[in-house]
Amino acid sequence: MANQTPSDRKAKLETATQWLASQQDAMEKLLSELVEASSWTYDKKGVDAASAILRQAMPLPCTSIPSTQYGNQNVFHNALPASQSGTLLIGHIDTVFPKEKFSGYLSDGKLARGPGVLDMKGGLVVMTFALQALKLQGLLDSIPLSCLVVSEEEIGSPESTPLLRSLSKGVKASLVFESGREGDAIITRRKGSGSFTAIAHGRAAHAGNAHQAGANAIWSIARFVDRIQGFTDYQQGTTLNVGKVLGGIGKNTVPDHSEAYVDMRYITLSVAETLRARILAAAGEVAVSGTHIDVEWGPGRYPMEKTDASEALRAQYAHCQRLSGLGDGECGLIGGGSDAATTAHEGIPSIDGLGPRGKGFHTVEEYVELNSLIPKTQALLRFLCVGRSL
Ligand SMILES: [Zn+2]
Repeated sequence: MANQTPSDRKAKLETATQWLASQQDAMEKLLSELVEASSWTYDKKGVDAASAILRQAMPLPCTSIPSTQYGNQNVFHNALPASQSGTLLIGHIDTVFPKEKFSGYLSDGKLARGPGVLDMKGGLVVMTFALQALKLQGLLDSIPLSCLVVSEEEIGSPESTPLLRSLSKGVKASLVFESGREGDAIITRRKGSGSFTAIAHGRAAHAGNAHQAGANAIWSIARFVDRIQGFTDYQQGTTLNVGKVLGGIGKNTVPDHSEAYVDMRYITLSVAETLRARILAAAGEVAVSGTHIDVEWGPGRYPMEKTDASEALRAQYAHCQRLSGLGDGECGLIGGGSDAATTAHEGIPSIDGLGPRGKGFHTVEEYVELNSLIPKTQALLRFLCVGRSL
């Protein structure tokens, strides 16, 4: 293994690439089994059952980190871990769909449909088969890599983020197998996201008999909503969305309580900091007399910011895609977060969107293009096998 020459490796890569070309049926079979195993984030039993199917198919030993709230987290180990300047492969097995909402696997031979088929069980199939191909050629244990399959990515990876961070240490490249984009464009940038609840406290009073004694919390929240919606700046890539407002008990009572639920997106951490300061200032400025507004910050994700190192990684992976008959472009800025943002924030060159192509994730229209399974897997195989010596 250690004494393999680059030309040995290239010959083995050739054989492994050809083997993969014969695996369409096997890949579709694993995809169908994973999709049939419904795994909504909040369905721990379902997520764990889907993980059991994946563990059977993966050619690496696995450590399951138990969770009481979500599915267990699964880390697959190699003889040489990713921390030795290797590659960290990242996926997630949960989906956004409860079983009753969307279930089952359907294929017409070209497109496959089902919950998570694109986001991102297709990506798990790509990871699994690339590793199987390496194993068949006796290459697997000579390549430093680790593989993490997260169980609660769709709600922002609240429990797995520390694990992601610790597995990032010493890693040279973080590859994330989220849904493949049109033209196989590789994702290098994602917006960061944040959330908060603004809570206005006022004073209740009879709307007819004691209007003057009241302090209207809804009025304050209305003014606050108007102010912060104005912080949206499409040019800068900053958006704020008040998505839900609550308050009051009826028209003849001055409301003493009102709440607004807000989502925000931004391109850089420094924009996020400025935005937070402006939001807090607005809360102080707009509250009407007798009321005040508290801001409670909620969960969020760091932005995935592009670096010279991540651009070099993208170019290298794009080359592997090109050699596998795929597109090699770069994706435009993405509004939604992923685990790639966590490894990028740790300073690890990170790219995303390396799973099979398709459309409609997070909707019941979700589908994957089955003819992208093999080339996407071949691209990963090439990257792992000969990487920088291409
Ligand atoms: Zn996803």
